[in-house]
Parts: sequence; structure tokens; C-alpha cells
Amino acid sequence: MNDFETFLTANSSALGIHQYGFLETSQLSFSEGVRSLCEMNACGHYNTTWVCPPGVGTYEECRDRIMKYSHVFVFSSKHDLEDSYDFDGMMAGKDRHNEICEAVLKQFRNFYPKDCLILAGEGCSRCAKCTYPDSPCRFPDQAYPSIESYGVEVNRVAATTGINYINGANTVTYFGCICFDKV
Ligand code: SF4
Repeated sequence: MNDFETFLTANSSALGIHQYGFLETSQLSFSEGVRSLCEMNACGHYNTTWVCPPGVGTYEECRDRIMKYSHVFVFSSKHDLEDSYDFDGMMAGKDRHNEICEAVLKQFRNFYPKDCLILAGEGCSRCAKCTYPDSPCRFPDQAYPSIESYGVEVNRVAATTGINYINGANTVTYFGCICFDKV
């Protein structure tokens, strides 16, 4: 077990992580079909920010960005809902998940200070109005693309990692990934 894994054993719950695991990036599953789901725009973020398709880059470019790293840290957060129609609860969970991703990344950098790539929840709400598509992203180091925008098949990756893709009735589960090179 390395230092980060030891840290997680003691602190993952306090960080808001529900489950986590490590894979080699070669174990990730990709599909261009995931990007097609983005185009259906169920989340409402398609073509609105630099972290969503098409602004995030092509499917091939995104996959190549991930594959230049050797490993990926995969984690989930679980959020309670009032019922399965609790849209406000889902949105609150997504916001909380993105806060968790920021906190996890901050800790991760203490152990792996080199370049890494974080993929988080849907869209980006860092700016009141995104600059997309008229001028470059204001905070490219703090704008985290969603996992799906990179064509990653989250359900299959969850299974490979041994993480629950869903966690039962009246909950919503979100995923995050940090791609990195093990030293
Ligand atoms: S940081 Fe601002 S400019 Fe960049 S993607 Fe997010 S909302 Fe858009």
C-alpha cells in the first residue's frame, strides 16, 4: 500500500468518498456512444461549456489525453434523495460531488504533485457565464470535464474497479477519476 492509499484508508469517508479503487488506464472502457448520449443533452450542458462536448475536444483527443497516463484513481460519492423524482436533490448531490472532487484532488496532489487529469461531474458552474465558445476558458486548471464527456463507460469502469454503479433506492451516485502516472 502506498502513502496515498494509506491516507485514503483513514480519510476517504471524511472526504465524502463512498467507494474507490485504482486501475491501469489500459483497463478503462471507452465508447463513442457515450458521447452520443451527451449530444442528446439530457443534462442540458451539451455545447454550453468548455468541459462538455463539443468544446472539450473530439472523442479521440479526449481518449488520448487519458491514455497518456498510466493509472487512474476512481471514486464515487453517494447522495440521499427524498424519492426517485427528487431533481433538486440530484442537483444538490452533483454540486456536493464536485466539491468532493476538489477536496480529493487537493489531497491527491500532496502525494502525486506531478501533472494529472481530473474528470468529475456534469458541466462547469465556476463562472456565472461561461466564455464558451467566444473566448478561452478563464480557469482551465479548475474546470473539470465530466467522465462521460471523455467517452468513458462509467458503468463498466465501476464494475472493473469493484465499485457500485448504483447504491439502492432513493440515492444518486456520482463518479470521479484522477488520471496520473505512478512514480
Ligand atoms: S471555468 Fe468558467 S470559462 Fe471555464 S469552462 Fe468553467 S464556466 Fe466556462
